[in-house]
Amino acid sequence: MYYTINPKVMSIKSNLEEFKSLSEKVTLVAVSKTKPKEDILEAYHAGQRVFGENKVQEMADKYDHLPKDIQWHMIGHLQRNKVKYIAPFVNLIHSIDSERLLAEVNKQALKNDRKIPVLLQVHIAEEETKFGWDDTELLNFFGANLFENYKGITFSGVMGMATFTENEAHIKREFGHLRSIFETINTRYGSLLPEFNQISMGMSGDFKIAIEEGSTMIRVGSAIFGERNYHKS
Ligand SMILES: *Cc1c(COP(=O)(O)O)cnc(C)c1O
Repeated sequence: MYYTINPKVMSIKSNLEEFKSLSEKVTLVAVSKTKPKEDILEAYHAGQRVFGENKVQEMADKYDHLPKDIQWHMIGHLQRNKVKYIAPFVNLIHSIDSERLLAEVNKQALKNDRKIPVLLQVHIAEEETKFGWDDTELLNFFGANLFENYKGITFSGVMGMATFTENEAHIKREFGHLRSIFETINTRYGSLLPEFNQISMGMSGDFKIAIEEGSTMIRVGSAIFGERNYHKS
């Protein structure tokens, strides 16, 4: 597999300028998956420090070769047997979609003598294919105080992906739903979870709606780095 750089991208730096007016309450995660290290460095030199990747090996390789003050966020589906490769350095895992995965991250965090911040990925979209907890599972998890079993985990909030649709009202409803689950957990258990304060929602196509609905973290790839081209060779 190889990647080509889309000639339509004028400049990563100028694309990032568009996000300079974001409220301080919203963190921009620059999603650099499939993009070469040169692109990440261009964004880095423009001041960007938080980058999102969805493949363990790619993220570990980029971590090895790029400046050490970059904060690496894992945003893609994570297999349990690969957690160990990112556990020493990952800054936030957005995609905790099951308790089994959570248990493995906890184990690897303790091995590395650290706490790993995570977001619980909630299934908010209609599509069957998207991963995540449903509302009941999530409320049961917190309701039973199960989070207290995870000494290697910092529970930092929730993440969700809306249905891929042009229907803005529909997207808005799904993001509103995620915010309301977040608020329910925060109201009931916030005093026990002081760092539970992030709602990761919104991508290139829907981040404006997400921010209107209370997003604190947007994950933006193509609007910064241009379209991703995948060529199978
Ligand atoms: C790829 C990806 C993004 C970024 O998508 P864009 O549409 O390019 O902004 C955000 N979140 C997740 C989970 C992704 O896999």
